[in-house]
This record gives sequence, C-alpha cells and structure tokens, in this order.
Amino acid sequence: MINRVTYRLILLIALSGAPLVQAEENATAVDVDFLPLKRAVRCTAAKCQLPNCRCSGLRLPSAEFQGREQEIPQLITVTFDDAVNVINYEQYQKLFDGLINPDNCSARGTFFVSHEYTDYTLVNALYQQGHEIALHSVTHGTGTDYWREADVELLMAEFGEQIEMLMKFAKVSRKHIRGLRLPFLQSAGNNSYEAAKRLGLLYDSSWPTQRYRSPAMWPYTLDYRSTQDCQIGPCPNAAIPGFWINPMVTWLDTAGYSCAMIDGCIYPPQDNVDALFEWMLENFNRHYEGNRAPFGMYLHAAWFQRGRHHFDALKKFLHYVNTLPDVYLTTASRVIHYMKHPSLGKPFNGCPKKPQTTCIKRSCGLRKVETGEIRYMNVCDSCPSVYPWLGNPFGQTEY
Ligand SMILES: [Zn+2]
Repeated sequence: MINRVTYRLILLIALSGAPLVQAEENATAVDVDFLPLKRAVRCTAAKCQLPNCRCSGLRLPSAEFQGREQEIPQLITVTFDDAVNVINYEQYQKLFDGLINPDNCSARGTFFVSHEYTDYTLVNALYQQGHEIALHSVTHGTGTDYWREADVELLMAEFGEQIEMLMKFAKVSRKHIRGLRLPFLQSAGNNSYEAAKRLGLLYDSSWPTQRYRSPAMWPYTLDYRSTQDCQIGPCPNAAIPGFWINPMVTWLDTAGYSCAMIDGCIYPPQDNVDALFEWMLENFNRHYEGNRAPFGMYLHAAWFQRGRHHFDALKKFLHYVNTLPDVYLTTASRVIHYMKHPSLGKPFNGCPKKPQTTCIKRSCGLRKVETGEIRYMNVCDSCPSVYPWLGNPFGQTEY
C-alpha cells in the first residue's frame, strides 16, 4: 500500500519529469541490493564522454588543455549551509556586494538551505539576486546515524519535500533546484545518490577528498566507479548515470590537518585579517597555481561569529581574487555546466538570467505539531496552517 508521503513523492517526481521509480517498501540502508542499481565498473575515457559522463580523477576537463592549465578559468564556489535568516542574509548581502566577475556578470554563491528557522522571503530575495538555492534537507536530522542509515524513501522525503517547500514558500522554480549537500556530509552510500537522482537533481556536494587535494580532483559523474577516497563512509559503489559529484576538495589548516568545511578546520590561523587572508590564499593557490580544479569555500554563517575578523578576512579574500582576470566566483551548478562544456579563457556565454518572481511577505506564527511550540516563519504569499515539517511540507491541518 502506498502511504501519503510516498504518493506525494510520486506525484512530485512525475511533475518534475524525473524517471518514475517507486522506492521499495521496507528497504534498509545496509541492504543496498534492493535497488535496481548496477555495480559501477571501471571508467575509461573512451566509454565515458562529455557532456553527460566524466570519469573521476585529476584529468583536465579536456585533453587539449594539457600544458595550458594557466588558461583554464579558475572557478570558485562560495557556499553556505543551513537556515537563511535575517542576520545571515545581511552578511551575505555585504559579502557579495560589489563583486563582479571578469565577464561582467555578478559574483554569486550557493545556499544549501535547511527548513527549520529559514525565512523563505529571504530565500526568495537571494534567488532573485541570482544566487543558487540548493537542498540541505527538511529536518537536518538528529545526527550522523540518521543520515547514514536513511533509506531511499526517507531521503526522497527529506529532499523532495524541501523542494516543494522552496517552490511554494520561496517561489523558487523547480528547474533551478539542482543540487544537495547532505547534513553532516553523511551519506548513506548508494541510497543518498539514488534518491538524488530519482528527484531529478544534477549534483551532490557532500563528498570530501583528502587524497586528491594537490593536484585537486575535478567534478565527475557516477556512471562508472569513482576513484575518490571515501572519508565519511559508506560511499556509493553503484552506477548512477549522469549524476555529478562536485567533490569537496579539503583545505589544510595551520597544523596540516584537512578540513572539508572551512569552519571545520581544527587549527585555523589566529583571528587576524591578514593571517586569515594569507591562509585562504595558500589554500587557493594549490588550485590556482595547480590544475585549476574548482576551488570550494564551504561555510556556515555561524563562522562569522566565531572570530571578530572572520567576516572581514573572507571579504578581503573575495575582493582580492575578484581582481584576478581569470577567476570567477560562481555557483555550484554553473561549475557543472562548465564541466559539461569546458573552454579555455571565458568559461560561460553571457550571464545567467535572474529569475523574476513576486513574493508578498507573510509573517506566520505556527504551531509545530510534533512539539506544540510556536514557530515564526516568513513565507511568500500565504501562511500555512501549522508549522510545515517532514510528512507535511505545506503545513496543512488535516495531517
Ligand atoms: Zn548543516
């Protein structure tokens, strides 16, 4: 029997144009064989070709680029995870203010948004400014076990229902929601990637690499076996055709330990603009003076509160790289777009069109059914009846 959540997901997938495959009931994370997935086999460049297939590894986006690394545009993704609220929204505005890429398009970031405490009218504002809105789940879960043991159905609910919320409350178009980051970067092996693929997503940005830092690993697809090191297992071993991995190439802290998220570095430099700036530059130069694989700057806005100079240091760094003639601050999905159509020199043709939506702000005081507490939530256009949550993404009373 199909329960309501499953039914809603099937409807969503049907609407999104993704392949309609229903998750089996009673599947568990350890039982990966229940999926109609094939085990991934070794990748060869002859079998796996752009634009929709690319082997994992250190290979440049095109064989013709060999020896011409300094002509490859250096792409940088600045990403923030978790809820968007009035405090971090102001910080994001200040951070990106005045940053224009060499092609005269605005510099843009990627926001992996989780539902709780998010102000959807501000998500709409970021979206209208041209930033990428991506997924970080409805509940954020209760810890790493929740995500490690999640089955495909749960993962599809966590990310699929979040898609519905972003569409309804922040007026984000379905076609612009393309990627996800798993909370705690914790994958459930094949299940996470199978769920993402079934939801019609394009890429994941949750998988850190320590081994392939210098030279750094480029994004690749899961058509064939990944050669990436598995730092937070289980990692997928099935073929998920056409689905991209945007590897989180780790940074090094001052003691030489790796960190996937900048705010996860154990020994960052002292809280001083120049020391932090130099440290960012050192990490950046491994890419910029190396193979030019995309450089990720992965953060939570909470990091700005952890040191008096963190914000200014990041701003200084972004303004510095923005003066370089071949550096582009762009979104994760534009990076994948570049990977599909790589070029030397200018990476993109024209600027992405900014979406035009209207959002009439509503401030809603809503009861969270699970706990009885009242949550305040800003949304576009009309308030739900209760606080939306997993299983009830539109916050309807009849649930
Ligand atoms: Zn998070």
